[in-house]
Amino acid sequence: MESLQLKTKLLYLLLSVALGLVVVGFVGYYNLYTMKKNVDTLYFGSLVPLSELGSINDTYHHELEASIYHWNQGLINDDDLAKNISLGKEHVNQMWASYIAHDKRPEELPYIHYTETQIETMQSYFEEIQTLTATDHPHTTISLATLSDNINSIHATISKLITYEISAAQYERSILLSQHQNSLMQLAIMLSIILLGVMTFAWRIFMQIERQQQQLLESSQVLQHLNAKLEHASYTDTLTGIFNRRYFNLVYEREFKRALRNVQPITFIMVDIDFFKQYNDTYGHLQGDVALQNVAHVLRSSLLRPGDFVFRLGGEEFGVILTEANCSDAHKMAERLRFNVESLDMEHKGNKNTGKLTISLGAICITPIMGINNETLLQSADTNLYAAKERGRNQVVFTMTL
Ligand code: GH3
Ligand code: MG
Ligand code: MG
Repeated sequence: MESLQLKTKLLYLLLSVALGLVVVGFVGYYNLYTMKKNVDTLYFGSLVPLSELGSINDTYHHELEASIYHWNQGLINDDDLAKNISLGKEHVNQMWASYIAHDKRPEELPYIHYTETQIETMQSYFEEIQTLTATDHPHTTISLATLSDNINSIHATISKLITYEISAAQYERSILLSQHQNSLMQLAIMLSIILLGVMTFAWRIFMQIERQQQQLLESSQVLQHLNAKLEHASYTDTLTGIFNRRYFNLVYEREFKRALRNVQPITFIMVDIDFFKQYNDTYGHLQGDVALQNVAHVLRSSLLRPGDFVFRLGGEEFGVILTEANCSDAHKMAERLRFNVESLDMEHKGNKNTGKLTISLGAICITPIMGINNETLLQSADTNLYAAKERGRNQVVFTMTL
C-alpha cells in the first residue's frame, strides 16, 4: 500500500516536471517568436526604410542635381540630361514605393504624406526641366538657384523623416532589449519554481522512504526479538526453566561430534531423583514440582563453565553434559552435584536412607573415537544410574573410557 503511494508520488513528480518543462518550452517559444518579430520590425521596419530614404536623398543630390550642373557646364548634352532625369525619377519612385510598403505607425502617417507630396512636387519639377531641355534656350530658362532651393527643401524634408525613423529604431531596440531581459527573468523564475517544486517533492518522498525504512527496521527488530524468544521457549522446559530434551538432542549430537573432531573428553551424567514417586505421594504433586525446580536450580548453579549444560530429560530425570572437563574433574563435578542436592536439606520422609531429598547419578566420560555411537554413551550412563540405584541411591557411579 505504502509502496503504491510512493509510486503514485513519483508519477506525480515526473508529471509535474514534464508539465513544467512544457510550460517553459511554450514560454520560450513565445518569447523567441516575439523577439523575432521585434528584430523584423527593427530591421525591415526601420533600418531598411532608412536606407531607402537615404537612397532617395542621394539620387536627388548626386544624380539629378549633379546631372543638371554637369549639363549646365556642358559636360553632358540635352539627351543625356533627359535620360538621367528619367532614371533618377524612376529610382526615386521605386525607393519611395518600397519605403511606403513597410509597416508604418499611425503617428508618422501625416509626415509621410507630407513628404510624399513634396516628392511629387519634386518629380513634377524635374519633369518640367525635362520638358525645358527640349526647348530652344533651355540654359536661360532653368534657374540653378531654384534647383538648389528645391533640392535643399526636399533634402530637409527627407532628413527629418530619416531622423524620425532613427528615433523609432532606437525605441524598437530599447523594447527588444527589455523584452530580452524579461524573457531571461521569466525563464529563471520558472526554472527556479520547477526546481524548488521537484526538490520539495523529492524531499518528501525521501523522508517517507526513510520513515518506512525505520519502521521496517523496527519491525524486523521486534521480529528478531520474538524469534529469539520463540527459540528460547522451544528449547526451555516450562516448569524448571532449564533446557529441555529437545535441546538436549541437539546439543548432545553437536558436542559429541566436536569432541570426536578435537579428540577431547566428553562427559554425560544422568541424574534421577530418589524415591520421587513417594515424595509426590507424601507432599503432593505441587510440592513435587517445587522439588523439581529446586533440584534443577541446584544443578544449574553448580555448573559454571560455558561448556557445561544441564537439561530436564523428562519426569524427575536430568541430563548433564560436560565438555571442558577432563574425566577426573568430571567425576568430581558429579559428586558435587550429588552433594549440593543433598545439601538442599529438603525433607523426604519416604527416603529411608537419609530422610532428605537426594539424587542418584550415572556418569560416563569418554574421548570419542571413530566408530563409537553416541547412543552407547547414553546407554552406559543409564546402566550406571541403574547401578547407583541398586547400590543404595544418593551416589555416583562413574565410568571412564579412554
Ligand atoms: P527411584 O528412586 O527408583 O527413581 O524411584 P522413583 O519413585 O523416583 O521412580 P519412578 O520413576 O518410579 O518415579 C518417578 C516419579 O516422578 C513418577 C511421577 O509421579 C513423578 N513425576 C514425573 N514428572 C513429574 C512432574 O512433572 N511433577 C511431579 N510432581 N512429579 C513428576
Ligand atoms: Mg525416574
Ligand atoms: Mg526416581
